[in-house]
Amino acid sequence: MALNVRGYATQSAQSALGLFRFDRREPRATDVVIDILYCGVCHSDIHNARNDWGGANYPMVPGHEIVGRVRQVGAAVTRFKVGEAVGVGCLVDSCQHCGACARGLEQYCENGFTLTYNDVDPHDGMPTFGGYSERIVVSEKFVVKVPENLDLASAAPLLCAGITTWSPLRHWKVGTGSKVAVVGLGGLGHMALKLAKALGAEVTLFTRSAGKEDDARRLGADHIVLSTDAVQMTGVQNVFDLIVDTVPYVHDVNPYVATLAIGGTLVLVGYLGPLEPMLNSAPMVMNRKAVAGSLIGGLPETQEMLDFCGQHGITSDIEVIRMEDINVSFERMLKSDVKYRFVIEMTSLPAD
Ligand code: NAP
Ligand code: ZN
Repeated sequence: MALNVRGYATQSAQSALGLFRFDRREPRATDVVIDILYCGVCHSDIHNARNDWGGANYPMVPGHEIVGRVRQVGAAVTRFKVGEAVGVGCLVDSCQHCGACARGLEQYCENGFTLTYNDVDPHDGMPTFGGYSERIVVSEKFVVKVPENLDLASAAPLLCAGITTWSPLRHWKVGTGSKVAVVGLGGLGHMALKLAKALGAEVTLFTRSAGKEDDARRLGADHIVLSTDAVQMTGVQNVFDLIVDTVPYVHDVNPYVATLAIGGTLVLVGYLGPLEPMLNSAPMVMNRKAVAGSLIGGLPETQEMLDFCGQHGITSDIEVIRMEDINVSFERMLKSDVKYRFVIEMTSLPAD
Protein backbone atom coordinates (compact mmCIF):
# COMPACT_ATOMS: atom_id res chain seq x y z
CA MET A 1 0.00 0.00 0.00
CA ALA A 2 1.21 3.50 -0.85
CA LEU A 3 1.85 5.77 2.11
CA ASN A 4 -0.37 8.83 2.28
CA VAL A 5 1.53 11.66 4.00
CA ARG A 6 1.30 15.36 4.82
CA GLY A 7 3.79 17.86 3.50
CA TYR A 8 4.19 21.45 2.41
CA ALA A 9 4.13 22.14 -1.32
CA THR A 10 4.16 24.99 -3.76
CA GLN A 11 1.71 24.81 -6.67
CA SER A 12 3.53 27.23 -9.00
CA ALA A 13 6.61 29.44 -9.22
CA GLN A 14 4.60 32.34 -7.80
CA SER A 15 2.63 30.64 -5.03
CA ALA A 16 3.35 30.37 -1.35
CA LEU A 17 3.93 26.91 0.12
CA GLY A 18 0.98 25.32 1.89
CA LEU A 19 -0.30 22.04 3.31
CA PHE A 20 -0.48 19.21 0.76
CA ARG A 21 -1.37 15.51 0.99
CA PHE A 22 0.31 13.06 -1.34
CA ASP A 23 1.29 9.42 -1.78
CA ARG A 24 4.72 7.96 -1.31
CA ARG A 25 5.44 4.59 -2.89
CA GLU A 26 4.69 1.33 -1.19
CA PRO A 27 7.99 0.42 0.50
CA ARG A 28 10.10 -2.08 -1.47
CA ALA A 29 12.23 -4.82 0.11
CA THR A 30 15.31 -2.58 -0.12
CA ASP A 31 13.56 0.53 1.25
CA VAL A 32 13.83 2.35 4.54
CA VAL A 33 10.80 4.30 5.78
CA ILE A 34 11.92 7.36 7.75
CA ASP A 35 9.95 9.55 10.15
CA ILE A 36 11.32 12.99 9.31
CA LEU A 37 12.25 15.00 12.41
CA TYR A 38 14.04 17.95 10.80
CA CYS A 39 14.63 19.35 7.34
CA GLY A 40 17.07 22.15 6.50
CA VAL A 41 16.10 24.95 4.13
CA CYS A 42 18.63 25.24 1.30
CA HIS A 43 18.85 28.15 -1.12
CA SER A 44 18.31 25.51 -3.85
CA ASP A 45 14.80 24.99 -2.41
CA ILE A 46 14.05 28.60 -3.35
CA HIS A 47 15.69 28.24 -6.80
CA ASN A 48 13.61 25.11 -7.45
CA ALA A 49 10.32 26.33 -5.98
CA ARG A 50 10.54 29.53 -8.04
CA ASN A 51 11.78 27.76 -11.17
CA ASP A 52 15.01 29.83 -11.33
CA TRP A 53 16.73 26.94 -13.12
CA GLY A 54 13.76 25.89 -15.32
CA GLY A 55 12.33 22.36 -15.24
CA ALA A 56 10.19 22.81 -12.15
CA ASN A 57 7.27 20.40 -11.71
CA TYR A 58 4.31 21.27 -9.48
CA PRO A 59 3.05 20.54 -6.95
CA MET A 60 6.59 20.53 -5.51
CA VAL A 61 7.51 19.52 -1.97
CA PRO A 62 11.07 20.87 -1.47
CA GLY A 63 13.63 19.73 1.09
CA HIS A 64 16.86 17.76 0.78
CA GLU A 65 18.50 18.17 4.17
CA ILE A 66 16.55 15.43 5.88
CA VAL A 67 17.20 13.92 9.29
CA GLY A 68 14.89 11.46 10.98
CA ARG A 69 14.56 8.05 12.57
CA VAL A 70 13.98 4.74 10.86
CA ARG A 71 10.33 3.74 11.21
CA GLN A 72 10.37 0.55 9.15
CA VAL A 73 12.83 -1.46 7.04
CA GLY A 74 12.18 -3.75 4.06
CA ALA A 75 13.03 -7.46 4.24
CA ALA A 76 16.27 -7.01 2.23
CA VAL A 77 17.59 -4.00 4.18
CA THR A 78 20.85 -4.88 5.93
CA ARG A 79 22.41 -1.61 7.14
CA PHE A 80 19.60 -0.01 9.17
CA LYS A 81 17.49 -0.81 12.20
CA VAL A 82 14.23 0.69 13.40
CA GLY A 83 14.87 3.73 15.62
CA GLU A 84 18.29 4.65 14.19
CA ALA A 85 19.10 8.29 13.36
CA VAL A 86 19.52 8.62 9.60
CA GLY A 87 19.83 11.23 6.90
CA VAL A 88 18.85 11.72 3.27
CA GLY A 89 20.39 14.39 1.06
CA CYS A 90 19.79 15.55 -2.51
CA LEU A 91 19.74 12.11 -4.18
CA VAL A 92 17.45 9.11 -3.76
CA ASP A 93 18.63 6.95 -6.66
CA SER A 94 21.15 6.51 -9.50
CA CYS A 95 21.82 3.77 -12.09
CA GLN A 96 24.23 1.87 -9.79
CA HIS A 97 26.25 0.39 -12.67
CA CYS A 98 28.03 3.19 -14.57
CA GLY A 99 31.65 4.14 -13.91
CA ALA A 100 30.68 7.09 -11.71
CA CYS A 101 28.31 5.03 -9.53
CA ALA A 102 30.95 2.28 -9.25
CA ARG A 103 33.33 4.91 -7.80
CA GLY A 104 30.73 6.19 -5.33
CA LEU A 105 30.21 9.35 -7.36
CA GLU A 106 26.46 8.95 -7.67
CA GLN A 107 26.12 12.73 -8.10
CA TYR A 108 27.81 12.35 -11.50
CA CYS A 109 25.87 9.20 -12.54
CA GLU A 110 26.31 8.81 -16.30
CA ASN A 111 22.72 7.65 -16.73
CA GLY A 112 21.15 10.34 -14.58
CA PHE A 113 20.48 10.30 -10.86
CA THR A 114 17.10 10.77 -9.20
CA LEU A 115 16.72 13.89 -7.09
CA THR A 116 14.98 13.82 -3.72
CA TYR A 117 12.32 16.18 -5.10
CA ASN A 118 11.22 17.64 -8.42
CA ASP A 119 12.12 14.41 -10.16
CA VAL A 120 10.50 11.13 -11.24
CA ASP A 121 11.28 7.69 -9.85
CA PRO A 122 12.60 5.66 -12.81
CA HIS A 123 11.12 2.41 -11.45
CA ASP A 124 7.48 3.38 -10.98
CA GLY A 125 7.17 6.79 -12.66
CA MET A 126 5.97 8.47 -9.44
CA PRO A 127 7.06 12.05 -8.77
CA THR A 128 9.60 12.48 -5.98
CA PHE A 129 8.67 14.75 -3.07
CA GLY A 130 11.19 16.14 -0.60
CA GLY A 131 11.71 16.57 3.09
CA TYR A 132 9.15 19.26 3.94
CA SER A 133 6.93 16.33 4.98
CA GLU A 134 6.32 13.85 7.76
CA ARG A 135 7.77 10.68 6.23
CA ILE A 136 9.89 9.51 3.29
CA VAL A 137 10.58 6.14 1.61
CA VAL A 138 14.16 5.76 0.32
CA SER A 139 16.30 2.91 -1.00
CA GLU A 140 18.83 2.01 1.73
CA LYS A 141 21.74 2.80 -0.64
CA PHE A 142 20.76 6.46 -0.42
CA VAL A 143 20.35 6.61 3.35
CA VAL A 144 23.26 7.58 5.61
CA LYS A 145 23.85 7.17 9.33
CA VAL A 146 23.83 10.30 11.47
CA PRO A 147 26.22 10.07 14.45
CA GLU A 148 24.10 9.89 17.60
CA ASN A 149 26.32 12.38 19.46
CA LEU A 150 25.24 15.18 17.11
CA ASP A 151 22.20 17.35 17.75
CA LEU A 152 19.81 16.08 15.09
CA ALA A 153 18.30 19.45 14.18
CA SER A 154 21.73 21.04 13.69
CA ALA A 155 22.94 18.00 11.76
CA ALA A 156 20.24 18.29 9.07
CA PRO A 157 22.11 20.92 6.98
CA LEU A 158 25.11 18.60 6.76
CA LEU A 159 23.12 16.58 4.21
CA CYS A 160 23.47 19.31 1.59
CA ALA A 161 25.40 22.37 2.82
CA GLY A 162 27.88 20.08 4.58
CA ILE A 163 28.56 17.61 1.79
CA THR A 164 28.59 20.28 -0.95
CA THR A 165 31.48 22.04 0.74
CA TRP A 166 33.19 18.90 2.05
CA SER A 167 33.46 17.32 -1.41
CA PRO A 168 35.65 20.05 -3.00
CA LEU A 169 37.74 20.36 0.18
CA ARG A 170 38.51 16.63 -0.06
CA HIS A 171 38.87 16.47 -3.85
CA TRP A 172 41.45 19.28 -3.79
CA LYS A 173 43.16 17.63 -0.81
CA VAL A 174 42.82 20.39 1.75
CA GLY A 175 44.80 19.70 4.90
CA THR A 176 47.21 21.26 7.37
CA GLY A 177 48.80 24.34 5.86
CA SER A 178 46.36 24.68 2.94
CA LYS A 179 45.18 28.22 2.29
CA VAL A 180 41.46 28.10 1.67
CA ALA A 181 39.05 30.95 0.99
CA VAL A 182 35.27 30.83 1.05
CA VAL A 183 33.10 33.33 -0.85
CA GLY A 184 29.77 34.16 0.84
CA LEU A 185 28.78 33.52 4.44
CA GLY A 186 25.45 31.73 4.15
CA GLY A 187 24.39 28.13 4.67
CA LEU A 188 27.11 26.60 2.49
CA GLY A 189 29.69 29.23 3.40
CA HIS A 190 29.47 28.74 7.15
CA MET A 191 29.86 24.97 6.75
CA ALA A 192 32.85 25.52 4.45
CA LEU A 193 34.53 27.65 7.16
CA LYS A 194 33.97 25.01 9.84
CA LEU A 195 35.04 22.05 7.71
CA ALA A 196 38.12 23.72 6.18
CA LYS A 197 39.26 24.80 9.64
CA ALA A 198 38.76 21.31 11.07
CA LEU A 199 40.82 19.88 8.18
CA GLY A 200 43.73 22.09 9.29
CA ALA A 201 43.55 24.87 6.69
CA GLU A 202 44.23 28.57 7.16
CA VAL A 203 40.83 29.97 6.28
CA THR A 204 39.73 33.31 4.80
CA LEU A 205 36.19 34.53 4.26
CA PHE A 206 35.28 36.82 1.36
CA THR A 207 32.03 38.61 2.17
CA ARG A 208 30.21 41.60 0.74
CA SER A 209 28.52 42.18 4.11
CA ALA A 210 30.33 44.28 6.72
CA GLY A 211 29.32 43.08 10.17
CA LYS A 212 29.87 39.35 9.69
CA GLU A 213 33.46 39.46 11.04
CA ASP A 214 32.77 38.22 14.58
CA ASP A 215 30.60 35.35 13.40
CA ALA A 216 33.12 34.42 10.72
CA ARG A 217 35.94 34.19 13.27
CA ARG A 218 33.81 32.10 15.60
CA LEU A 219 32.98 29.78 12.69
CA GLY A 220 36.64 29.24 11.80
CA ALA A 221 37.85 32.13 9.63
CA ASP A 222 41.39 33.34 10.38
CA HIS A 223 40.99 36.33 8.06
CA ILE A 224 38.06 38.26 6.65
CA VAL A 225 38.17 40.21 3.38
CA LEU A 226 35.41 42.63 2.44
CA SER A 227 35.05 41.89 -1.27
CA THR A 228 33.70 45.38 -1.96
CA ASP A 229 36.89 46.98 -0.61
CA ALA A 230 39.52 47.28 -3.38
CA VAL A 231 42.37 47.78 -0.92
CA GLN A 232 41.52 44.61 1.00
CA MET A 233 41.22 42.67 -2.28
CA THR A 234 44.65 43.90 -3.41
CA GLY A 235 46.09 42.66 -0.13
CA VAL A 236 45.30 39.03 -0.96
CA GLN A 237 46.62 38.61 -4.52
CA ASN A 238 48.13 35.19 -5.39
CA VAL A 239 47.41 33.64 -1.97
CA PHE A 240 44.86 30.80 -2.01
CA ASP A 241 45.23 27.14 -2.95
CA LEU A 242 41.47 26.67 -3.08
CA ILE A 243 38.50 29.04 -3.16
CA VAL A 244 34.99 27.68 -2.57
CA ASP A 245 32.56 30.18 -4.13
CA THR A 246 29.01 29.79 -2.77
CA VAL A 247 27.40 32.95 -4.25
CA PRO A 248 23.99 31.95 -5.70
CA TYR A 249 23.84 34.57 -8.46
CA VAL A 250 25.94 35.68 -11.41
CA HIS A 251 28.94 37.67 -10.23
CA ASP A 252 32.40 38.64 -11.43
CA VAL A 253 34.78 35.81 -10.52
CA ASN A 254 37.86 37.48 -12.06
CA PRO A 255 38.74 39.41 -8.88
CA TYR A 256 38.77 36.09 -6.98
CA VAL A 257 40.90 34.33 -9.62
CA ALA A 258 43.47 37.06 -8.97
CA THR A 259 43.69 35.90 -5.35
CA LEU A 260 44.57 32.29 -6.28
CA ALA A 261 48.15 31.13 -5.78
CA ILE A 262 50.03 29.49 -8.66
CA GLY A 263 48.18 26.24 -9.41
CA GLY A 264 45.21 27.27 -7.29
CA THR A 265 41.57 26.43 -8.09
CA LEU A 266 38.36 28.38 -7.66
CA VAL A 267 35.40 26.00 -7.33
CA LEU A 268 31.95 27.30 -8.12
CA VAL A 269 29.27 25.56 -6.06
CA GLY A 270 26.62 28.30 -5.99
CA TYR A 271 25.93 29.87 -9.36
CA LEU A 272 24.81 27.74 -12.34
CA GLY A 273 25.06 29.37 -15.77
CA PRO A 274 27.24 31.53 -18.04
CA LEU A 275 29.71 33.77 -16.24
CA GLU A 276 29.39 37.51 -16.65
CA PRO A 277 31.67 39.34 -17.11
CA MET A 278 33.51 36.61 -19.02
CA LEU A 279 36.36 34.75 -17.46
CA ASN A 280 39.75 36.16 -18.47
CA SER A 281 42.03 33.23 -19.29
CA ALA A 282 45.25 35.27 -19.15
CA PRO A 283 45.78 35.11 -15.37
CA MET A 284 44.84 31.44 -15.45
CA VAL A 285 47.33 30.59 -18.22
CA MET A 286 50.11 32.66 -16.70
CA ASN A 287 49.84 30.95 -13.30
CA ARG A 288 48.21 27.58 -14.02
CA LYS A 289 45.07 28.64 -12.19
CA ALA A 290 41.77 26.82 -12.65
CA VAL A 291 38.07 27.55 -12.35
CA ALA A 292 36.00 24.44 -11.64
CA GLY A 293 32.58 23.37 -10.42
CA SER A 294 31.37 20.75 -7.96
CA LEU A 295 28.02 19.11 -7.24
CA ILE A 296 27.02 17.90 -3.77
CA GLY A 297 28.84 14.59 -3.07
CA GLY A 298 28.44 10.85 -3.42
CA LEU A 299 27.08 8.50 -0.79
CA PRO A 300 30.42 7.19 0.57
CA GLU A 301 31.73 10.75 0.81
CA THR A 302 28.54 11.90 2.56
CA GLN A 303 29.00 9.18 5.18
CA GLU A 304 32.69 10.12 5.52
CA MET A 305 31.69 13.76 6.13
CA LEU A 306 29.07 12.80 8.72
CA ASP A 307 31.55 10.57 10.55
CA PHE A 308 34.13 13.39 10.50
CA CYS A 309 31.51 15.78 11.90
CA GLY A 310 30.64 13.23 14.59
CA GLN A 311 34.31 12.94 15.58
CA HIS A 312 34.86 16.70 15.62
CA GLY A 313 31.45 17.70 17.00
CA ILE A 314 30.66 19.78 13.92
CA THR A 315 27.10 20.80 13.07
CA SER A 316 25.38 23.74 11.45
CA ASP A 317 24.42 26.99 13.22
CA ILE A 318 20.67 26.93 12.86
CA GLU A 319 17.45 28.77 13.50
CA VAL A 320 14.66 26.27 14.10
CA ILE A 321 11.38 27.24 12.44
CA ARG A 322 7.84 25.90 12.30
CA MET A 323 6.54 24.60 8.98
CA GLU A 324 4.12 27.53 8.65
CA ASP A 325 7.10 29.95 8.83
CA ILE A 326 8.58 28.63 5.59
CA ASN A 327 7.35 31.40 3.29
CA VAL A 328 8.72 34.13 5.56
CA SER A 329 11.95 32.14 5.87
CA PHE A 330 12.39 32.02 2.08
CA GLU A 331 12.12 35.84 2.01
CA ARG A 332 14.56 36.19 4.89
CA MET A 333 17.05 33.86 3.21
CA LEU A 334 16.89 35.96 0.04
CA LYS A 335 18.00 38.92 2.19
CA SER A 336 20.78 36.83 3.82
CA ASP A 337 18.89 37.28 7.08
CA VAL A 338 19.66 33.88 8.60
CA LYS A 339 22.39 32.65 10.94
CA TYR A 340 23.11 30.43 9.13
CA ARG A 341 20.51 27.84 8.21
CA PHE A 342 16.79 27.51 8.82
CA VAL A 343 15.74 24.05 9.94
CA ILE A 344 12.08 23.03 10.00
CA GLU A 345 10.91 21.14 13.08
CA MET A 346 8.63 18.60 11.44
CA THR A 347 6.40 18.07 14.48
CA SER A 348 5.05 21.54 13.64
CA LEU A 349 3.54 20.27 10.37
CA PRO A 350 -0.14 21.10 10.80
CA ALA A 351 -2.84 18.43 10.85
CA ASP A 352 -5.36 18.64 8.04
P1 NAP B 1 22.60 31.32 1.26
O1 NAP B 1 22.47 30.76 2.62
O2 NAP B 1 21.56 32.26 0.76
O3 NAP B 1 24.06 32.00 1.16
C1 NAP B 1 24.55 32.64 0.02
C2 NAP B 1 25.56 33.71 0.45
O4 NAP B 1 26.10 34.28 -0.76
C3 NAP B 1 24.93 34.88 1.19
O5 NAP B 1 24.88 34.68 2.57
C4 NAP B 1 25.87 36.03 0.83
O6 NAP B 1 27.01 36.03 1.68
C5 NAP B 1 26.32 35.68 -0.57
N1 NAP B 1 25.49 36.36 -1.58
C6 NAP B 1 24.15 36.30 -1.74
N2 NAP B 1 23.73 37.01 -2.79
C7 NAP B 1 24.84 37.55 -3.32
C8 NAP B 1 25.07 38.40 -4.43
N3 NAP B 1 24.07 38.84 -5.21
N4 NAP B 1 26.35 38.76 -4.68
C9 NAP B 1 27.34 38.33 -3.89
N5 NAP B 1 27.17 37.52 -2.81
C10 NAP B 1 25.93 37.14 -2.55
O7 NAP B 1 22.62 30.15 0.17
P2 NAP B 1 23.18 28.63 0.33
O8 NAP B 1 22.07 27.76 0.78
O9 NAP B 1 24.47 28.67 1.02
O10 NAP B 1 23.39 28.25 -1.20
C11 NAP B 1 24.34 28.94 -1.99
C12 NAP B 1 24.21 28.52 -3.43
O11 NAP B 1 24.68 27.17 -3.58
C13 NAP B 1 22.77 28.50 -3.97
O12 NAP B 1 22.78 28.98 -5.30
C14 NAP B 1 22.39 27.03 -3.95
O13 NAP B 1 21.41 26.72 -4.91
C15 NAP B 1 23.73 26.42 -4.32
N6 NAP B 1 23.90 25.01 -3.95
C16 NAP B 1 24.70 24.26 -4.75
C17 NAP B 1 24.96 22.95 -4.44
C18 NAP B 1 25.88 22.14 -5.29
O14 NAP B 1 25.83 20.92 -5.23
N7 NAP B 1 26.76 22.74 -6.06
C19 NAP B 1 24.38 22.38 -3.31
C20 NAP B 1 23.60 23.18 -2.49
C21 NAP B 1 23.37 24.50 -2.81
P3 NAP B 1 27.73 37.40 2.17
O15 NAP B 1 26.65 38.24 2.74
O16 NAP B 1 28.71 36.91 3.16
O17 NAP B 1 28.39 38.01 0.97
ZN1 ZN C 1 20.81 22.04 -1.02
